[in-house]
Amino acid sequence: MSLAVLLSRSLIGLDAPTVRVEVHLARGLPSFGIVGLADAEVRESRERVRAALQSSGYDFPLGRLTVNLSPADLPKESGRFDLPIAIGVLLVSGQVSILERTQDEATLKRSPLLANLVLAGELSLTGALVSTKGALAIALSVARSSPAATLVLPMEDAIEAARVPGLVVLGARTLAEVVGHLDGSNPLVFSEPAPLVEQASNQGCLSELRGQLLARRALELAAAGGHSMLLSGSPGVGKSMLAKRMPGILPALSHAESLEVASIAAFAGLSRPLSSARPFRAPHHSASVAAIIGGGLKPKPGEVSLAHRGVLFMDELPEFDRRVREALREPLENYEIALARANLKVVYPADFQLLATMNPCPCGWSGHPKRACRCRPEHVLTYQSRVSGPLIDRIDLQIHLTQEKEKWMDLPPGEASALVRERVTQAWYRQHNRQGGLNARLSDGQLEGVCVMDTAAKNLLGRLIDQYSLSARAIQRVRRVARTIADLESRPMIEAHHFAEAFQYRSKSL
Ligand SMILES: [Zn+2]
Repeated sequence: MSLAVLLSRSLIGLDAPTVRVEVHLARGLPSFGIVGLADAEVRESRERVRAALQSSGYDFPLGRLTVNLSPADLPKESGRFDLPIAIGVLLVSGQVSILERTQDEATLKRSPLLANLVLAGELSLTGALVSTKGALAIALSVARSSPAATLVLPMEDAIEAARVPGLVVLGARTLAEVVGHLDGSNPLVFSEPAPLVEQASNQGCLSELRGQLLARRALELAAAGGHSMLLSGSPGVGKSMLAKRMPGILPALSHAESLEVASIAAFAGLSRPLSSARPFRAPHHSASVAAIIGGGLKPKPGEVSLAHRGVLFMDELPEFDRRVREALREPLENYEIALARANLKVVYPADFQLLATMNPCPCGWSGHPKRACRCRPEHVLTYQSRVSGPLIDRIDLQIHLTQEKEKWMDLPPGEASALVRERVTQAWYRQHNRQGGLNARLSDGQLEGVCVMDTAAKNLLGRLIDQYSLSARAIQRVRRVARTIADLESRPMIEAHHFAEAFQYRSKSL
């Protein structure tokens, strides 16, 4: 009788809990069973492991071979347990021995736990290792929970995973290479990390956009303070054009952020190179709640999570399903989204900036100088009410764009994105140094300490409260935006003109 215990990782959301792979060989009629709530995929792994061992020149042991994946209640999809199972089979059948542990065969048999080794990889029938999804999430998780571990992955995954700082990652192309490493005959070399793709915004430059000075200014404020923004106006006025230029003025992702973003994308089955560019997600208004929020039997991240650390662009916001609009409240409030399924709760991060557009009325031409609106007043009200209440309350900047009077040709070209980005980056540094986050994320408690107003600003606020009967929530939102305006000017206090400017971006919900 012989037992080997190896460690691997499962995947729940972005979390990768430890899975013990126990391989047991006993005398008896030849059989090969896998237990531990293994789904069809894991059962297929039995056939792959058998073929891969034989193709690699090893014997498949005769006897009762039992594999137990524990704990039993974790979801164990994908073939990533092939590699630890195959190595376990080789250990219990005595076809491979671990280099450091061979001096004391008895110890190995008593406690054959390869304590610091985490193995994950699918095997092809030829014995080659095939990349599986979630390598980056596994690496991030291992680095958090057991930083001393050595992670052995298929070469392609190892290159991804090697980006995680402080973790030893070994990449192998075949089962035989992993065996060569374990018995010391041919150690694997550390994986070199995949290169970080530098930010390249392909969404166009702000200089291509002429006029619309108020909206340009608001876009800069949104970028600088992490504020959400709603642009309204007739078709063709430049709403989408402006919104799509947002990523080009946002500061680059840090190394840790780019890892996080890439691992979420990998989960949704998207291949995203490790890039310093912030995500920009633009789902169509016909998208389902599950597509936006995330979901499915094995919950996958939705658009709100794919936009994490970046921008969620919702063109024609009122056209989105009511349930989609309502579901946005949770991530806008908590910066994450919890997806519950039967006995499984998955939490995905969803800290994004909402950028939305809407027409002034269903036909789009209300208020346009040359086109006539054909909407009935009650339809206009219904349309506008779709973005009212709690949703609009969470959008700091609300801008109405009107057609420029001059011809496009006669307007001077706008400032280039690179220049705006420079100012935005400076403002980010100021906020992070002062409060460790962006102004849009300031809690009510932090607000008093951070958004200090000078006397003139206080007087102005008093007059505005009297005149417009502002709610407490509205005041806090205006203060956050005013703080961003002051940060762009590098001013320590909020002054009256900062406040006056911030106030004009809150027209809709006051
Ligand atoms: Zn209309």
